[in-house]
Amino acid sequence: MAASGEAGRQWQEEVAAVVVVGSCMTDLVSLTPRLPKTGETIHGHKFFIGFGGKGANQCVQAARLGARTSMVCKVGKDSFGNDYIENLKQNDISTEFAYQTEDAATGTASIIVNKEGQNIIVIVAGANLLLNTKDLREATDVIRRAKVMICQLEVTPATSLEALTMAHSSGGPECIGVTKHVSQRTWAEEKKTKESSWVLWWIMKTLFNPAPATADLDSRFYTLSDVFCCNESEAEILTGLAVSSPADAGTAALVLLERGCQVVIITLGAEGCVMLSKTEPVPKFIPTEKVKAVDTTGAGDSFVGALAFYLAYYPNLSLEEMLKRSNFIAAVSVQTAGTQSSYPHKKDLPLDLF
Ligand code: ADP
Repeated sequence: MAASGEAGRQWQEEVAAVVVVGSCMTDLVSLTPRLPKTGETIHGHKFFIGFGGKGANQCVQAARLGARTSMVCKVGKDSFGNDYIENLKQNDISTEFAYQTEDAATGTASIIVNKEGQNIIVIVAGANLLLNTKDLREATDVIRRAKVMICQLEVTPATSLEALTMAHSSGGPECIGVTKHVSQRTWAEEKKTKESSWVLWWIMKTLFNPAPATADLDSRFYTLSDVFCCNESEAEILTGLAVSSPADAGTAALVLLERGCQVVIITLGAEGCVMLSKTEPVPKFIPTEKVKAVDTTGAGDSFVGALAFYLAYYPNLSLEEMLKRSNFIAAVSVQTAGTQSSYPHKKDLPLDLF
C-alpha cells in the first residue's frame, strides 16, 4: 500500500516534474577507533542514523532545489520505513507511490567508520528488492507525465529496466515539433532550428545512474538512457578501461556512447566531470571549483539530483551550463558532513544558479 498523509495528499493533484524510481536505505553508522577483527567486539564512541539510498538521495537534492518530485520506492512496514516516509514528506517529496511491505525490512546500510575514515559496510537491500513492475504500473501516469525520470541499480535490474522503458516511450525522438527540453543544443542552435519547424526533437527524459555498476550490464540500459551518468570507478567497471584523468574519462565515455546512450557524463570527484553526446561526440571536460572537502559521501547523488532539476526546469540551458551548475551544487554538498544532511536548499545557493 502506498503511503498517504499531508504531503501525499498535497501532491495527488499535481504532476511531478522529476520522478525517481529507486532505493531508500537507512544508514546505521558507528564511529569506532578501529575496525573490529572477525569475532571481536569493540566499543564505538558515536552512533547515528541517517537517511540514504541513491534513489532517495537524488530525489531529495532535486526537491531541495525546488523541483516537484515523486519517489517510487518500497520500504518495510517497520519503524525505519515509517521514518523514511516521514523524511520524504519533510523534503516535500510526494509519497503517493512510496510503498510499504510486510514481506521485508526497510533497506539498511550498517556502516563502521574508523578514525582514519576507513569503513566497512554491509547493505541489506530488503524491501527495495520487492519494488516490482506491478508497483510501477500503478505509477504509470506519474512516470509518463514527468519531465525527467531517474533510476539507479539499487532496486532489481528488471524494475529499473521497466521504469526506463515506461519513461523512454514518453520522451525520446518520437516527440516531433516540441519546442522545449532540448538540452543537447545550444540556445542559438535551438532558435535556428525552431525557424525551420517540425524538426525531430530529442526529449531528455531518462537519466540513468548505473550504480552500483556491474560489468555485465544489460545492453538495454544504454539504449534506454537519454542521459547516462556514472562516476570514474563505475566507468572502469562498465568499460574495463582505467579511468583516472579527464582524458581517460573521455575515452571511456565514447565507449559508453557507442552502446546507445544519447548523452554520457562521467563525474571525476574534485576535478568535475566529462560529457559528450550523440550530437557532439567530442569529450568536453567541465572543471569544478576548488573547495575544502569535509565529507564527499553522496556527492554523486547530489550531482545527479541537481542535473535532473536543470533538465526538468531549465531545458533551454546548454548541457555544459547544466553540468557547471550541478558541479557547483555537488561541491557545496562536500563541504558539510553527512549525505542528505549536506545537500543544499535553493535558499542557501547563489541566485544565478536559478
Ligand atoms: P561519487 O560520489 O559517485 O563517487 P564523484 O566523487 O565523482 O561521485 O563526485 C560527483 C561530483 O561531486 C563531482 O563531479 C563534483 O562535481 C562533485 N565533487 C565530488 N568531490 C568533490 C570535491 N572534493 N570538491 C569539489 N567537488 C566535488
